[in-house]
Amino acid sequence: MKDTRKPYIAGNWKMNLDRSRGLDLIKTIKGRLGDGSDREVAVFVPACYLADVSAVAQGSPLGVGAQNLWYEKEGAFTGELSAAMLREVGADRVIVGHSERRHVFGEKDEWMSRKLRAALDSHLMPILCVGETLEERKGNRTDRVLKRQLETAFLDVKPEEIRRLTVAYEPVWAIGTGEVATPEQAAEAHRFIRRWITGRLGAEAGLAVRILYGGSVNPGNVRNLLAVEDIDGVLVGGASLRPDTFIPIIEFGL
Ligand code: PEP
Repeated sequence: MKDTRKPYIAGNWKMNLDRSRGLDLIKTIKGRLGDGSDREVAVFVPACYLADVSAVAQGSPLGVGAQNLWYEKEGAFTGELSAAMLREVGADRVIVGHSERRHVFGEKDEWMSRKLRAALDSHLMPILCVGETLEERKGNRTDRVLKRQLETAFLDVKPEEIRRLTVAYEPVWAIGTGEVATPEQAAEAHRFIRRWITGRLGAEAGLAVRILYGGSVNPGNVRNLLAVEDIDGVLVGGASLRPDTFIPIIEFGL
C-alpha cells in the first residue's frame, strides 16, 4: 500500500539562512533533483524569500512553501499573511500548526481547520503538524492529544481533498533536540493517525493520505524511518539547512 504514496521530503528552514546562502542551497538542491517522478521534495522558507526562492526553483519539480498563514482573506491582522498573498509570491504549499507556532506563539487548535480551509481554497497544499509533548507522552496521553489535534483540524476537510493535504507527526520532544522517535514509536503514532483519518474520511482517503515523520531526522536515521509502513516521508528542520545533510536525505535509497 505504501508504494501507492509518493515519498515526500520537506525541509523547514524556520528563521534560518540569509538570502544568499538560501539561494545557493536551492541551486544545489535543484541540480540534484531528478524529474520528481519518484519523490516529492519541497522547502518551506521564510516568507521574505519566497519570491526569490520560487524564481530560482522554477522549471524544476522542487516545491516551495511558507511556514504559516492566517485564514482570513484580508483585514486588520498586523504581521500576518493570507493564502492569496503567499500564492502571489510563489508558494505552492504551506505548513499549518507547526509545534513552534502552537507552543511558542500560542496558536490554538481551533484555528487549524480554518487555516486548512484557507490553504485548500487558495490551492496551497498544506502540511498539518500534530504531535505530543514529552509530558503528554510520559502521561500516556499521546493518542488523546493526536485525536484532539486531528478532530479540531479536520472539521471541514472533504475526502476528495486528502491528496492535497499531508499530515506530519512531529513529537515535540524530538524537534530540534537530536532525540529521534524510534521507528516503533513513530510507527504506532502514524498507524493511529491513518486509522483516525480512515474512520473520518473513509478507506480510500486513509490509504491515500501521506503522513510524514518530523523530529531530528538526519542522513543516518532517515532510511530506518522511511522503511516503516506508515511513514511516507519526512519533515526536516536542522538537517535541511546544508547540502551535505539535506541531499543525502533527499536521495535516501538511491
Ligand atoms: C521541524 O522543523 O519540523 C523539525 C522536525 O526540526 P528538526 O528536524 O530540527 O528536529
